[in-house]
Amino acid sequence: MKRLSRRTFLAASAAVTASPVLGAPSSSIDFDVIIVGAGSAGIAAARRIYAAGRSFRLIEASSQIGGRCITDTSIFGVPYDRGAHWIHMPDLNPVAKLTPKPGFDVYAASAAQRLRVGRRNAREGELEEYLGVLVRSNRAIADAARGKSDVNCADALPKDLRDWRPTVEFVLGPYGCAKDLREISAYDFAKSAERDVDAFCRQGYGALLGKLGAAVPVTLATPVTRIDTNDRLIVETDKGRLVARAVIITASTNVLLSGDIKFTPELPKRQLDALNQLKLGSYDHIALELIGNPLGLQRDELVFEKSETTRTAALLANISGTSLATVEVAGKFGRDLSAQGEPAMVAFALEWLTDLYGADVKKAVKRTHATRWNAEPFARGAFSAASPGGQGARKTLMEPLRDRIYFAGEAMHETLWGTVGGAWESGTRAAEAILRKMGVLKEIEDPKDKPRAKEPSKPQPRRKG
Ligand SMILES: Cc1cc2nc3c(=O)[nH]c(=O)nc-3n(C[C@H](O)[C@H](O)[C@H](O)COP(=O)(O)OP(=O)(O)OC[C@H]3O[C@@H](n4cnc5c(N)ncnc54)[C@H](O)[C@@H]3O)c2cc1C
Repeated sequence: MKRLSRRTFLAASAAVTASPVLGAPSSSIDFDVIIVGAGSAGIAAARRIYAAGRSFRLIEASSQIGGRCITDTSIFGVPYDRGAHWIHMPDLNPVAKLTPKPGFDVYAASAAQRLRVGRRNAREGELEEYLGVLVRSNRAIADAARGKSDVNCADALPKDLRDWRPTVEFVLGPYGCAKDLREISAYDFAKSAERDVDAFCRQGYGALLGKLGAAVPVTLATPVTRIDTNDRLIVETDKGRLVARAVIITASTNVLLSGDIKFTPELPKRQLDALNQLKLGSYDHIALELIGNPLGLQRDELVFEKSETTRTAALLANISGTSLATVEVAGKFGRDLSAQGEPAMVAFALEWLTDLYGADVKKAVKRTHATRWNAEPFARGAFSAASPGGQGARKTLMEPLRDRIYFAGEAMHETLWGTVGGAWESGTRAAEAILRKMGVLKEIEDPKDKPRAKEPSKPQPRRKG
């Protein structure tokens, strides 16, 4: 393959950017900062560096920005969030706070939720019992997290959950954290900030993030292949090499573990161990166009079932008042299912809905689609609940490496991991650390001092991610 020189690369990059190259590259340094990946963290970092007036290049491997937060409108003709959809804690969420108006409509998520017990809705007594076991389970995990050593969340659960156990395990594990509870650190789980107030964006969370990303230039379809810090900091792509003072890497932990981005010298064991402890879980949407509201549900109504096994899912119906519904599969069951491909995923969703609502639902299904995030080469999974013993890994990866490499992204946030808002804050934090080092930012604002979500008060079967 013909390799472009650095000059040609710069010229080619400039051609696809929306605005001119920032700053004035010196003879040996092309940019102050190179940002790898234009998801939430990368966009936030780029906007921060841009606002400070320093030169940067935001390089994205795929042909669009947004990463794990993208909205598609071509498949169903209405906004379909293929990744993140729930805007957690909208009053504190940095992306929601920047919502451009008019143009984007962010509205409170309805509190409507249902629990199906076979073909009927749960009775009031059953619902109370269910919420009660969720309270006790959350509390038991929080108690376990106060112990001397970390345990997995499954072992921390109360022993007397009886026939509620599979449901609780699904709601707190795969649905909330993309992993089975046995694979999740009780400490990490308990530390995650409250996410029980939510909003949705009618145009799609990905569309909203994309709008914020449009404020900065980005070089698309250019995977970074190597970060070399032997001498100067060199970032390599198949279109050429760039020299920078610092790099912010926002590719997911699974992408970093895949070896698709090489490091010279190699990443130290400490960072590799931390990445291994923060491997991404599995979470996918099986999207169905259900004509005529055949399930008789409200707008954005969330449905769980009282399940007996791990072969279960959640349903989000009538998304933003459209005919679109998503069946959510996650954890080990979701991972095995998605490995079988889209037809198997859609077949499962129809079978599951038939079990809960009867066979007529199939007649109402028109177009279908299933995401397969584990197979997306530039994501390789959903989001990052820490494995038992692994909460410290987030802090490890937040430390700058070799003085010039900064990792950012959802996995590098101690309380908002697995969220778009957490990724955004992490990107901003990395950018500000670099700006401080350059002497551009004098005031050190400790993110710990910023208002955060309070400690969990009441349980809500809402997601962490
Ligand atoms: C199905 C699903 C549902 C979710 N639901 C929610 C939700 O409801 N609410 C919520 O808040 N969060 C949710 N999340 C989590 C949320 O999407 C992520 O936490 C967040 O989007 C991660 O942002 P990021 O910037 O850390 O990483 P990413 O979005 O993964 O961004 C990293 C970017 O780096 C790029 N990249 C990778 N390799 C390279 C390379 N070699 N060179 C250059 N670029 C590269 C990628 O293409 C990507 O654009 C969900 C995630 C999934 C998958």
